[in-house]
Amino acid sequence: NKFREGLTKTRDNFTAKVNDLVARYRTVDEDFFEELEEILFQADVGFDTVMKLVEELKMEVKRQNIQDSKDIRSVISQKLVEIYQGDDELDASLSIQEEGLTVVLFVGVNGVGKTTTIGKLAHQLKEDGKKVMLAAGDTFRAGAIEQLEVWGDRVGVDVIKQGEGSDPAAVMFDAVQSAKARKADVLICDTAGRLQNKVNLMKELEKVKRVIEREVPGAPHEVLIALDATTGQNAMTQAKTFKEVTDVSGIVLTKLDGTAKGGIVLAIKQELGIPVKYVGLGEQMDDLQPFDAEKYVYGLFS
Ligand code: GDP
Repeated sequence: NKFREGLTKTRDNFTAKVNDLVARYRTVDEDFFEELEEILFQADVGFDTVMKLVEELKMEVKRQNIQDSKDIRSVISQKLVEIYQGDDELDASLSIQEEGLTVVLFVGVNGVGKTTTIGKLAHQLKEDGKKVMLAAGDTFRAGAIEQLEVWGDRVGVDVIKQGEGSDPAAVMFDAVQSAKARKADVLICDTAGRLQNKVNLMKELEKVKRVIEREVPGAPHEVLIALDATTGQNAMTQAKTFKEVTDVSGIVLTKLDGTAKGGIVLAIKQELGIPVKYVGLGEQMDDLQPFDAEKYVYGLFS
């Protein structure tokens, strides 16, 4: 279980504390729940999720007449999965077209792991038998194009690029034409991640999207935002800003292996109403996992 491996830090923090709590309390009472709340907050599970979880746990304890604190562990994991999944049916899988070109647009600020994620996703789709191409749409940050090319070489997919400072929309136009001509299945597009000027960012993304929409009906099929799990509340703020400037269809939460506060996965979907589609669990090519709430919670508690 990749989740189990990647969640070592969170498990050492969160699960160990829950286990300790269960060991210290023989019966489930108010104090137990108060301490549990604190543990959940510290793991970045998020206010709303914690409140909902504790409320539902209390009801479940009553309903099942749970006395022994040991019996509550499985109820916690079951409720965490239920709360994450909710009843809104947000689709966690990537929407890949059965026929024709699928365009996936990546947004996110610099340093969060966007390029690495694009590389990993390209690898994964290629392994699934898809013909993948990359578009070097971050023409702003020095070295961004080269970095994407390094990943392109590593994975063995073509990268469509122009020079640094060129118009990202022009790069996208080229990339879409090439992808169509070469009968690619998926085109993954990088974009510049500067948040300093929201108006410019919005204009740039709009222009890029317009070109893609015009050239490929129904595209972009996904707009994924890369967020760094180790930055907690910052990640949440970034997501809110991008949500204001463009339609975001999914979240890729990177560096989940690098944080003890993996509860952020649960908070982020609750707060933003956007599904987590993938999580990054390391720096290597195959360290990207499609998100699955059950496997995630199981990885935490097993
Ligand atoms: P970008 O500026 O958003 O394109 O970020 P990069 O892709 O260059 O990644 C920044 C750093 O984060 C690099 O050192 C990556 O190896 C590292 N990184 C990216 N994803 C993960 C992940 O899931 N886990 C860990 N541990 N490191 C990651």
